[in-house]
Amino acid sequence: MKDVMTRALVLRTGHFREIDIWLKLLLPGSGIQTAFAFGGAKSKHRFPGCLDVLNTLNCRLRTSGRGQFLTLEEACLLEGPVTLRSNWSRMGLAANCLRFLEVLDVSADNAEAAFALVEALRSTLESRASVSQLFPLFFRFALACRVGYAPDLVRCGLCGRSLGQTLAFFQVSEGLMLCAGCRHSPETVRQQLPVSWPVRRLLLAVQKDEPRDWQDLANVEDRRACSTLIDGFIQYHLGIVWDRGGFRKL
Ligand SMILES: [Zn+2]
Repeated sequence: MKDVMTRALVLRTGHFREIDIWLKLLLPGSGIQTAFAFGGAKSKHRFPGCLDVLNTLNCRLRTSGRGQFLTLEEACLLEGPVTLRSNWSRMGLAANCLRFLEVLDVSADNAEAAFALVEALRSTLESRASVSQLFPLFFRFALACRVGYAPDLVRCGLCGRSLGQTLAFFQVSEGLMLCAGCRHSPETVRQQLPVSWPVRRLLLAVQKDEPRDWQDLANVEDRRACSTLIDGFIQYHLGIVWDRGGFRKL
């Protein structure tokens, strides 16, 4: 048996037997793991009221002999939401983001970036006066970009010219943004989405900036185009779809 001290973000919890709790944790060094907190519903000494979703914990984890399961031996709260839990609609947005993260199942290499993004998500949902209803969609794109699927949104993927602030065209299957001159080139495929400058500016912010800096899209057409682009990109490149109220890997 081996003990490790680590930070952990609580993604999901559940009870089993009377006083025991299982947790899905995001660990910055190794990605998503399931851990068992025996006596977790009872022990205020080892788990002082901290085993809740969206909390960042400092914890001691123990791997069993063959490493096939993980127990949470003790934990304390490093940071967590203060007012967010009483805001049901915001907690709904957060839950949607966490479910996506679980299905994506980040690798150890990307775990630190995902960890930072979830902490930024928590503080944004907690502190910002208004948040776009598209926020979970933006989160999916931000996460995809941070785990290695970032498309170039600045230059044309064929000729390499800067796209400036012009209308561009996104080729979903290749993850390529094209200029108007290249969109009819024989090397391109037919399934392209027109992307206005406001949509591309928003995508650039989601790709590079913190969640607190993501703005909403004012125009209904732009919102629709942005949803179609992100959903298509996530489905094609990460193989994840929204299906009957949950995310699913294809
Ligand atoms: Zn071009």
